[in-house]
Amino acid sequence: MPIQIIGLLLCLLTAPGLGAAPLSLSDEQPSVRLAQQLEYLLPEQPLDFAEASRAEGWQPVNGSSLSLGRQPGVVWVRMALYNGSQQPDWRLLVEWPILDRIEARVLDSGSGQWSPLGVAGDRLPLSAWSEPARQPIFLLHLPLAETRWVYLQLQSAKNLVAPMQLLTESAYAQQEMSQRTLLGLFFGAMLAVLLYNLSLYMFTRDSSYAWYCLYLLGVVVYELALTGFGMQFLWPELGRPAGLIYVLSAAWSFFAATFFARVFLDIRHYGGWVLWANNALLGYWTLVLLLAVMRPQLLHGLGIPQVAMASCLVAFASAMSLWRRGNRSAPLFSLAWFFLIAGTAVHVAALQGVLPVNQLTLRMQTAGFFAEFILLSVALAHRINNERSARIAAQTALIGEREARLESQEQLLSEQARANEELERRVIERTTELQQSTLELAQVNAELTRLSNTDPLTQLANRRYCDQQLELQSNKPLAVLVIDIDHFKSVNDRYGHPVGDRCINAVADVLRRSAQRRGDLAARYGGEEFLVLLSDIDAASAALRAEEIRAEVASLSLRENGEQVPISVSIGLAAHDGGTSLRMSELIGAADRALYAAKGAGRNQVCCAA
Ligand code: GH3
Ligand code: MG
Ligand code: MG
Repeated sequence: MPIQIIGLLLCLLTAPGLGAAPLSLSDEQPSVRLAQQLEYLLPEQPLDFAEASRAEGWQPVNGSSLSLGRQPGVVWVRMALYNGSQQPDWRLLVEWPILDRIEARVLDSGSGQWSPLGVAGDRLPLSAWSEPARQPIFLLHLPLAETRWVYLQLQSAKNLVAPMQLLTESAYAQQEMSQRTLLGLFFGAMLAVLLYNLSLYMFTRDSSYAWYCLYLLGVVVYELALTGFGMQFLWPELGRPAGLIYVLSAAWSFFAATFFARVFLDIRHYGGWVLWANNALLGYWTLVLLLAVMRPQLLHGLGIPQVAMASCLVAFASAMSLWRRGNRSAPLFSLAWFFLIAGTAVHVAALQGVLPVNQLTLRMQTAGFFAEFILLSVALAHRINNERSARIAAQTALIGEREARLESQEQLLSEQARANEELERRVIERTTELQQSTLELAQVNAELTRLSNTDPLTQLANRRYCDQQLELQSNKPLAVLVIDIDHFKSVNDRYGHPVGDRCINAVADVLRRSAQRRGDLAARYGGEEFLVLLSDIDAASAALRAEEIRAEVASLSLRENGEQVPISVSIGLAAHDGGTSLRMSELIGAADRALYAAKGAGRNQVCCAA
């Protein structure tokens, strides 16, 4: 911005001095801007060149540019030129290619002779121009050191502005080259930005890019018309319709810009006056577009220049408002629009003659567009970035959520595993406990069985156990000894029961020692009666064993009160040779009878069953 202000100041300083007629041309000043040297005439009725030269009512031009607003009729412009240079051929350049029609002639007032007619203007095909070029240009033949009058007839359905320059051939060539270079750069940059955003639209399908491209396209066509490149290269032979291109492209640019702002700033989401103004402008520019195509003559009543400026200001104000309301796209948008508004304001001020007319002020709007489009491109890229950040944030959140879910699942699984382990541990514990208690139970059972089969006094097998054995049959050789203590009643009577018990125990010890082979059994059968079962033994050996038992008992030395307690046993023996199957009870019965015999035979002896 400061650079532009300095530029403007320089323009003011270098602006041509106040017009003095005739304008004196010199070699020192190969290009002269025309404004205050000009006079203009707004005739009531159509005139030809001769009539115009004689007409009254010519007025001086004030300000730095010829700007007469909307003029329905023809406007005449003239100036007197004294050629003080060494160049007879000068060029009159009208830097406003969108004028409908321009005619020019040079009058030699001395001889009253007119030069041939020069014509240009965007309603004519380029081939009909007297000097086909980018902008209307007229070759002026000005004899050296003489004064000539230049008469111009201007016609425009739009506002009539006509920034003009007088240049020598070489000054024109030089100026044209530098302008073409700058404008070429501008169009090249616009093309690059257009293609870039078009490709972004292809990839993203985001309608912001489409509207941005359509807006840019409108501006490019508008600039092509305004710089004369369109006329020169794109539509040279279009003729009258070419005059519409400027209006149509301008209206289209505003329409597309308004729509772009709507989409890009998401205006519908914010609502309020911003949406209302956007709707109104869209409606207005749609109407302008329709009328431009169907009824161009009605366009004049619509106040297009005012609404155009208002549109820019509304776009800027809307962006500022949305900026305050937190729209992240709004700041860059506001800045972009600010550049366009500033450029356009300078441009319009120059055309209106408020600011000096020169290359800088005339191209300020173009520069504004350039800055705007670059900034909008950045804004769009910024938006991609914003959206990408938002997407990444959303993805990160999603991943986080998934991780949290996985973590909780893992936690659940590990808790389950822990619970399973605990369960398993407890099952094993319980099983061990059960096995132990089963074992203990079995031990208790075994103990109970043992106890129920054992005589408590002697710890020999008891009668119960013997009776179970009696049911068995045997086909193996075995022998049964039935043993009874002799005269035991009297032992009890004499020494007392406890001594009797000691006797019983002493006999039991003898029997236990005698029945130690596998299959042998010693049992207490009743009070002082015992049973010894000897397995795998013949009758003779059994008799020997019975004799040994008898002898051992007889030799027992049991003393009570210093007195030898007499103790002996009688034994009845029955043997089975194993040849036939035999019931135990029968064998015991036989042994019992033998015992009876031993008692009868005097006791303390062994008696074998027959
Ligand atoms: P014998 O057999 O020689 O004909 O005479 P006996 O005196 O031994 O006769 P009997 O069989 O009638 O007597 C058995 C006695 O044994 C009767 C009882 O007092 C005694 N007796 C039975 N069981 C026990 C016991 O457990 N302890 C003691 N001290 N005496 C018992
Ligand atoms: Mg007895
Ligand atoms: Mg007895």
